[in-house]
Formats: sequence, C-alpha cells, structure tokens
Amino acid sequence: MDKDALRTLMVDEQLHRRGIKNKKILDAFATVPRHRFIPQASQNSAYADHPVAIGENQTISQPYIVALMLEYLEIIPKDRILEIGTGSGYQTALLEILSHQVYTIERIPILAKRAESFLQELNTSSIFFRTGDGTLGWPEYAPFDKIIVSAATREIPLPLIEQLGEDGRMVLPLGDSFSQMLTLVEKKRGSIETTDICGCVFVPLVGGFGLMQPS
Ligand code: SAH
Repeated sequence: MDKDALRTLMVDEQLHRRGIKNKKILDAFATVPRHRFIPQASQNSAYADHPVAIGENQTISQPYIVALMLEYLEIIPKDRILEIGTGSGYQTALLEILSHQVYTIERIPILAKRAESFLQELNTSSIFFRTGDGTLGWPEYAPFDKIIVSAATREIPLPLIEQLGEDGRMVLPLGDSFSQMLTLVEKKRGSIETTDICGCVFVPLVGGFGLMQPS
C-alpha cells in the first residue's frame, strides 16, 4: 500500500473510529506526511499504531495520543502555542496547521536541527525554534494560549504554569519513568485546575523542572 493510502487508513481506523471528532485535526493528520519525519530504518512503521524510534533514544508518539492531546488543547486559529519536545517535528507541523504561531523547544541539538531544516523544506512559516531546556519555557514570548509537553515529568514545571495565559490550556504526561497520566491543565482566574485524561507512556522530560537532570 502506498503512503497516502496508509495515511488515510490511519486517520480512519486509529483516530476517527476511536472517537477523535474534530474535523480540522483529522484533516491535519490527513495532510502531514508522517513518514517523512521518520528515519529510513523505521519507515515501515511510519503509520503504525504505536510510537516509533526517531534516533537519539527518542520516539515519535503514537498518532492517537497526539490527536488526543490536540483535541484537549481546543486550539483556535489565533492561538500562540508553546511546544516542549520538538523531536521529529511531526507534531509541530500539525500544530502549525491548526494555530497562528508555534514556539517549539528541543534539548537535543541534532534532533532540533533536523526538525528545523525539514519543516523549512515543507515551507512552514510560523514556527519558531529553540534548542535548550524547555522546562524553563520561553519567557520572551509568554504568555501562551496553549502549551503541549511531549515528555514526562512528575509535576507541572513552574515556569510553564507562569507562562500559560489566562484561560489557557496545557496538556502533559505526569508521572514517573514507567507510566504517566496524560493531564489537562487549565488556568482560570490565575489558578490551576487539572483533569486526568488517560494513562500513557512518554520518554522523560530532561531538565531543570524535569523528571531527570541532564548527564
Ligand atoms: N512530539 C515529538 C515527539 C517528541 S519525543 C514528535 O512528534 O516527534 C520527546 C522529545 O522531548 C525528545 O525529542 C526529547 O529530546 C525532548 N525533550 C526531553 N526533555 C526536554 C526538555 N527539557 N526540553 C526540550 N525538549 C526535551
């Protein structure tokens, strides 16, 4: 089966049938060529229903989990979004379609560079890249309407709480290295409310407010 057919099948079987309803999100998944964000060695699994290795011991998340995170963010076209963990840049490309601007931070320089050059090849124009510790956020551009964190930590990093705008929404996995709860964080009148979404397993967030400190 060719990649376009595999992608159509992924949207139908893994997302739509499991309850992802938002048409803009489904259309974004149908548009972004997921296989092109995945190294040659893992190409056969590009549209599979599980995470896939992207090098440097990191993974691109399972499509359904990415879709769920995007649904809970309730993105609208004028949103400015902070993404922690650029990884392959796949989710960054989806965010770019759905929002006004994406500020994305990756700590591993080789992944950051690869994602940036590939996203530029795809002619994206409203993504801002930074290499460094995303647990510190990006204060120069705060507040953000939405924040999405693609790596796990025990507690919500304080700088991210501070940099989330009023009525903002953040989605992140909270827990230990082995299992986490995907969590929605909402800021209302300056205080934080959290809601459990579902169990999940992400790679650890490595940094000042992360699950692990850099070695
Ligand atoms: N959403 C990505 C998947 C990322 S995997 C995709 O679509 O491909 C999680 C990423 O978070 C890894 O690339 C890892 O290096 C990065 N990461 C871990 N800790 C980080 C930190 N403190 N700041 C920024 N990125 C971090």
